[in-house]
Amino acid sequence: MLKGKTALVTGSTSGIGLGIAEELAKNGCNIIINGFGPEDVINKIILDLEKFGVKASYSAANMLNKAEIAGMIDEAVFKYGRLDILVNNAGIQHVDSIENFPDEKWDMVIAINLSSSFHSIKHALPHMKKNNWGRIINIASAHGKVGSANKSAYVAAKHGIVGLTKVIGLETAEIDITCNAICPGWVHTPLVQKQIEEKAAQKNISIKQAEIDLLSEKQPSLKFVKSSDIGEMVVYLCSDGAAQVTGTEFSIDGGWTAR
Ligand code: NAD
Repeated sequence: MLKGKTALVTGSTSGIGLGIAEELAKNGCNIIINGFGPEDVINKIILDLEKFGVKASYSAANMLNKAEIAGMIDEAVFKYGRLDILVNNAGIQHVDSIENFPDEKWDMVIAINLSSSFHSIKHALPHMKKNNWGRIINIASAHGKVGSANKSAYVAAKHGIVGLTKVIGLETAEIDITCNAICPGWVHTPLVQKQIEEKAAQKNISIKQAEIDLLSEKQPSLKFVKSSDIGEMVVYLCSDGAAQVTGTEFSIDGGWTAR
């Protein structure tokens, strides 16, 4: 369905971003992955993506650095001749009460989870406009719709990205470029594993029990969302059938935000 198109997925060396990259590659899309990780792991991801018969490459751009973000997009266009799909997925978490929240952690969460998307969209949009086609998908969170204690920076950034999505949707409404956000609930990735381990240590409970507690607190389905589920939603948003879907957000959260 996406044969010949090129997608850049930020933060795709693990977790949700990797799931998205795989689903896009399965649908024929060339992929630029980004994020941190050991060289052998990154090389293996590229080889695995290429098994779907697409081209794949890696950008080491740090989402904290706007010049590197611009460079990543220029490099993608230079390499593939076009940039059709931009998935802003890179993100980090820090959990602390507002009084204890380190200033530098606030700045980092806002920079990676929100400002990096401003910079990437600003730089990618002219390339999409040249082809009169584009799909921008921002990975927000259930925390883009509701709050949770001790996650001030994350919740602020995720609400911010939902707002940014609306504005970009409006600014591109008359062309075949759409911008949407996806709001996942718990997905079992390294980002969530860290929170499970912290919970287990704080409450002196097993990892399994901490997982059960985490799900029962927020996610009525009591099941983790899969990264591939989010990838499939991205593929839908890139389809022709989704051409009129723009400036909005989609929950995939096992019922988290229904109550
Ligand atoms: P993850 O930790 O598995 O992956 C994060 C990715 O971002 C990695 O590839 C990492 O290398 C990359 N990254 C981190 N800092 C970076 C930087 N400065 N520059 C470039 N890349 C950087 O996390 P995940 O759970 O897959 O999260 C992906 C996105 O999904 C995040 O935006 C997160 O907020 C969002 N999300 C996750 C969940 C969940 O339950 N896991 C739920 C809702 C939303």
